[in-house]
Amino acid sequence: MGLFTRDIKTLQDLFDHGLRDIYYAENQILKALPKLIDAATNPQLKKGLKDHLAETENQVSRLEQIFEMREEKPNGTKCPGINGLLKEGDDLTGNIADKNVLDAAIIASAQAVEHYEITRYGALIAWAKQIGRNDFADILGANLEEEKSADNKLSTIAESRVNAKASGRRASRKTTPARRKPAARQRTRRKAA
Ligand code: FE
Ligand code: ZN
Ligand code: FE
Repeated sequence: MGLFTRDIKTLQDLFDHGLRDIYYAENQILKALPKLIDAATNPQLKKGLKDHLAETENQVSRLEQIFEMREEKPNGTKCPGINGLLKEGDDLTGNIADKNVLDAAIIASAQAVEHYEITRYGALIAWAKQIGRNDFADILGANLEEEKSADNKLSTIAESRVNAKASGRRASRKTTPARRKPAARQRTRRKAA
């Protein structure tokens, strides 16, 4: 749908466009995820991305279900937004040699995509309700919940392990647990004295 053709007149038109837009986006994400899975090193990250690939396949099916309910063929419309995010992620991760730093970049790139999806589903759900299609809103809501949980899981993986590893802290002898423990005991002794 051309941006300047003014062929979106009603909220219904806007919803129709948005549905095709997210259908295109989910299919692009489906194509992009295997590359990120291959590039990831951290096992939790690899598994998290794999799980989300399976979820994404299911999300595409849910969108196809909405098209079916509308008695039309599933149809995407090119979304420059997702193409930009995926291209940026691809450029960035292609530029990083250190595998731990690469993991941190993969997480950030994947989260940019999740946030994009969260905004798109948020708007689509609100519009679906407004045009009296709570049935579509429920289906879209299932996708939204998966995007939110994928985003949260990625944050947990980054904050619990990947970012620290990327910073090189685990490689540093000064902060290995063996050295940290005696220091902590010394502090405790001083406090008690
Ligand atoms: Fe998705
Ligand atoms: Zn778009
Ligand atoms: Fe997603």
